[in-house]
Amino acid sequence: ILDVRALRKSFGPLEVLKGIDLSVRPQELVFLVGPSGSGKSTLLRCCNRLEEPDSGSIRLEGVELMDRACDLNAARRRIGMVFQGFNLYPHMTALGNVTLALRKVLGKSRREAEEIGRAALDRVGLADKAACHPGELSGGQQQRVAIARAVSLEPTLMLFDEPTSALDPELVGSVLAVMRSLREAGMTMVVVSHEMRFAREAADRVVFMEGGAIVEEGPPAAMFTEAQHPRTRAFLQEIG
Ligand code: ATP
Ligand code: MG
Repeated sequence: ILDVRALRKSFGPLEVLKGIDLSVRPQELVFLVGPSGSGKSTLLRCCNRLEEPDSGSIRLEGVELMDRACDLNAARRRIGMVFQGFNLYPHMTALGNVTLALRKVLGKSRREAEEIGRAALDRVGLADKAACHPGELSGGQQQRVAIARAVSLEPTLMLFDEPTSALDPELVGSVLAVMRSLREAGMTMVVVSHEMRFAREAADRVVFMEGGAIVEEGPPAAMFTEAQHPRTRAFLQEIG
């Protein structure tokens, strides 16, 4: 579904992505780990060209996103993104935050947007919070609204960049539960996170990145117990 080839990105003299190759199959959950500064966020942001790669190829469902003629907005609509910060509009209700994207991005009518929006909030367990403002919600609930907003647009791929790292520990579980249910529903996902337990339970593949390159990848069981590369082993032991 996603095919990244020889992706390179520098910030000035700093080479942050040194030729990344990454393929994600339909319904796969790829878990991306690596030390701080290894380029994980940059890689995710390059996938929908929020960050402009210097060179390489990004194919989403067969469409080359690096083509000059590519309809980037259409491609971005196919990719849902969830960040550490929830980026909700504080003056709008949970439902308002979800329906805004549906109306602005997909051009849905208010009625249709609200119907889809309520279903999306229900899916993340927040049907009863539709009328609440972000300030009245816990961090975990806010993040679930952000996930509902992304899901409601029916993306073919979801990218998560440390979705739980801004949350108090007791709120992390509810967000991971929602991610697990998305996965069970067949969503294709790339997840950057430090939640190694989640990786063990839910990931199809763990990809270890360091210094702008993919060092090693494999199924979680193998990566956690018998990683081939000493760097991978050291890193996963330290945080796992
Ligand atoms: P973390 O685990 O801390 O989130 P990361 O793996 O997500 O790290 P990136 O955010 O992708 O790492 O950053 C990779 C490198 O690129 C870092 O050295 C960072 O300082 C640098 N970098 C990222 N964004 C920019 C930018 N806009 N301008 C200059 N340098 C940047
Ligand atoms: Mg990051």
